[in-house]
Amino acid sequence: MADIIQLLPDHVANQIAAGEVVQRPASVVKELLENAIDAGASTIKLIVKDAGKTLVQVIDDGKGMSATDARLSFERHATSKIRTADDLFQLHTKGFRGEALASIAAIAHVELKTKQEQDDVGTTIEIEGSNIVSQEVIVTPKGTSISVKNLFFNIPARRNFLKSNTVELRHVIDEFHRVSLAHPNISFALYNNGSESFNLPISNYRQRIVNIFGNKTNEKLVPVEEDTEVLKISGFVGKPEFAKKTRGEQYFFVNNRFIKSAYLNHAIASAFDGLLKSGTHPSYFLNLEVDPQTIDINIHPTKTEIKFDDEHTLYALLRSAVKHSLGQFNIAPVLDFERDPNLDTPYDYKNSGASVPKVEVDRSFNPFQEESESKARAVSYKKEPAENWESLYVGLESKGTKTHQDFSEVHFESEESAPSIFNDEKQIESVNTTYQLHNKYIVSTIKSGMLVIDQHRAHQRILYEEFLKNMTIKEAVSQQLLFPLQLHFSTQEITIVNQLKDDLENTGFVFSKFNDESLEITGVPVSVPESEVSIILEQLISDVENEVPDSHFSATDLLAKSMAKSLAIKTGQSLQKDEQEHLVNKLFACKEPNISPTNRSTFITLSVDELDKKFI
Ligand code: ADP
Ligand code: MG
Repeated sequence: MADIIQLLPDHVANQIAAGEVVQRPASVVKELLENAIDAGASTIKLIVKDAGKTLVQVIDDGKGMSATDARLSFERHATSKIRTADDLFQLHTKGFRGEALASIAAIAHVELKTKQEQDDVGTTIEIEGSNIVSQEVIVTPKGTSISVKNLFFNIPARRNFLKSNTVELRHVIDEFHRVSLAHPNISFALYNNGSESFNLPISNYRQRIVNIFGNKTNEKLVPVEEDTEVLKISGFVGKPEFAKKTRGEQYFFVNNRFIKSAYLNHAIASAFDGLLKSGTHPSYFLNLEVDPQTIDINIHPTKTEIKFDDEHTLYALLRSAVKHSLGQFNIAPVLDFERDPNLDTPYDYKNSGASVPKVEVDRSFNPFQEESESKARAVSYKKEPAENWESLYVGLESKGTKTHQDFSEVHFESEESAPSIFNDEKQIESVNTTYQLHNKYIVSTIKSGMLVIDQHRAHQRILYEEFLKNMTIKEAVSQQLLFPLQLHFSTQEITIVNQLKDDLENTGFVFSKFNDESLEITGVPVSVPESEVSIILEQLISDVENEVPDSHFSATDLLAKSMAKSLAIKTGQSLQKDEQEHLVNKLFACKEPNISPTNRSTFITLSVDELDKKFI
């Protein structure tokens, strides 16, 4: 038989290698930013278009490349950063594999412009799918600019695999955060589709964190410092009361390189033991400095996981350093876990001056009236300027508690046809025969036996379909708030809310201001109590951030799910008879009554036959 083994051509090998290094636009961002840092830049600009799918460009003022180096930089295993394997244990640069540019050039249109300080002219090179299209002399400032266009243009399968711009942009911003947090001594800027998203001047570490995550972050930070022979720790942890539902703001840097480590994360979590509400995660921004000889960065192509020689010692040191800081700054005693959120003033009205606003309250307004009526009463004020809010007040006087309220606001469309389960022999005999079991299940009889409904899941389904409908037909009713509600978020969180703004407005939210770090709300959906607004938005942000990468992302759907989750009556809530009946009726008026928005069963049936069998 003839020989069958062949060496792969370079461009194929590069494409395969690219699969490891470049998963998405954010991977390109990471590699280019790291190269700029390794080149000693003090100013780095990142420009992206369409979340990096169309363009990722990084411009630096670093040392640049000679014409020969510029050409060589796109070869595989071409690096200026190590020469022997021993150098791997003395790394002071981000890159060392010499693979990034070769990989990127294999799967995109790349344009490089570079010039060294001492040279009069620079070099420009264009490469498309590993083929050099042109190399010319140009006039260009000192430093390097690399544009990566049309990522995966020659691998449609990979291109189709990319997520929505919202998701990809989030990855790009994450990467930008990681790199810029590790280097406060370098100035960074990010431009997205022509507008500036971040501009981070050279600053100290605390200022860098604040510049990224917003002014409000400053008061939340507790410094951590520890200097031992094996390890130097510096940075900040977030005060426990500001712990978040998402794991978003958790950053470890080892020798200025962002890393992921579940083990070290656990060290921090255990330092916070007993200080956090369940389900929340502390923020941290910690730099660890260790001898490069004691770590191995080489175990992962994207270099986000590293191996430590002595992880146990690091764990112990980290834990005690964080514990010490929390103790020193007197964090523990001021905690009050039982605080009733309803007692917190949810809006900042100190700034609204001493004059008492003239408020016309429609005392006869009943939010629980039929939808059509409440619609007629609710003022549509989308186009009204924010200053006019005093005269426009209509809406709910907040009851302050959530009990029963959400549910009563569900309007029932009894004329809607009931779905199949009740069309046949299983007709509900009478809705009066409902019982609530353990404040969790609603039990009712049907012709064939009995029906057990999970109240939380059922209500989620009802709300989900309602929100979806409102968003689609854009007919939601707003209730105007007595005082505009001011909410503070990080810039990134604001970006997320902003992307969902249209959909939120279609559910009944009215935004009067959208700043970098705060937003102002003057109206909310009728079914949303004011005290829940910040919780809903926080949940929403968390859901967007934690969106399962494989699920198909639809902002509308996600928003509807998230709001339904936040607002649905909870397990443990007791329901009046009429509320139980409404829930049953409303559920079976849904399009898909048998599953919750997250695909879980909303009810089960138990037939008389099945019951009979149990009595044998
Ligand atoms: P690595 O960073 O692992 O060395 P890369 O493929 O990322 O591999 O880059 C190859 C080489 O190109 C680098 O070693 C460096 O010498 C050069 N290079 C890449 N980007 C820049 C830049 N922005 N400024 C100066 N030199 C660069
Ligand atoms: Mg590199």
